[in-house]
Amino acid sequence: MKRVSTRSIGFVVLLLAVPSFSQKAVKDLKFHHLQEYCWMRLAGVVPEVTDRIILPIGTVESHGACAIGTDNFIPAHLAEQIWERCNALIAPAINHGVTGASISQFPGSITVRPEVFEEYLYDVLKDLVRTGFRNVLIINGHGGNTDPAKKAITRLHQETGAHFMIVDWWTVAFNIVNEVYGAKAQQSGHGDMEEAALVMAFDPALVDREMYERLGKDNVGSARTETGVVLMPAWATTAYPEKGAGYLDFDVVKAKAYTAKKADYIAQTFLEAVKRWEMMEGWKK
Ligand SMILES: [Zn+2]
Repeated sequence: MKRVSTRSIGFVVLLLAVPSFSQKAVKDLKFHHLQEYCWMRLAGVVPEVTDRIILPIGTVESHGACAIGTDNFIPAHLAEQIWERCNALIAPAINHGVTGASISQFPGSITVRPEVFEEYLYDVLKDLVRTGFRNVLIINGHGGNTDPAKKAITRLHQETGAHFMIVDWWTVAFNIVNEVYGAKAQQSGHGDMEEAALVMAFDPALVDREMYERLGKDNVGSARTETGVVLMPAWATTAYPEKGAGYLDFDVVKAKAYTAKKADYIAQTFLEAVKRWEMMEGWKK
């Protein structure tokens, strides 16, 4: 009888104990940003380790006392909070978007036409899909991007079968404002307490408290105009949900708690979507 050496038994045990390459997660890798890999390494990561990617999209737009880059800082920061849970890489962001005409006349605002944005986003997503990403989460920081982005993902899904989710952070789970601030649950405004909270959670210096106080909170922003009133340009670079509501709160602890809850909601929804998409694909086979 051939004697099996303890060394070879040990080797077999070791092989069984070590997870295969496909069981690796993004958190075990050196980088979680797509553009930090050389292409040969990336080809080994997608789709073996993950076929999920997060693409932050935003715009450059005046936001009262909040930084002009508010709509870019927020989705990038949310992506940083959830990539590990979602087992996803992060793609380079799209930072120029469809800023509204009523605000694009204020200093620093930059706007791209909706049809240009749709085509640009379509091209970016197309190459992400070609690389092997089948599940794409687009975290959107700006309302003007939503419609062209919806058109781009509809076309690409029909053409490639890849799966896409767009999330407008300010629209989802807006009842969280009640949990953290005790304020009435309602959809966010623009450059208001909720948006400033997500910026402060990233970097408190990006909300200019001195300017907010110098101008006076009602001059920095105001409640939305009534339906039926159209201003061009807008009378402020912020819009509060309603008169007297939405004034900035500079409590950074609350801002971080609020942001973390938004991030949780987005991660959970994406994971649920991926589960359902995969189940659906399973039935097709
Ligand atoms: Zn904004």
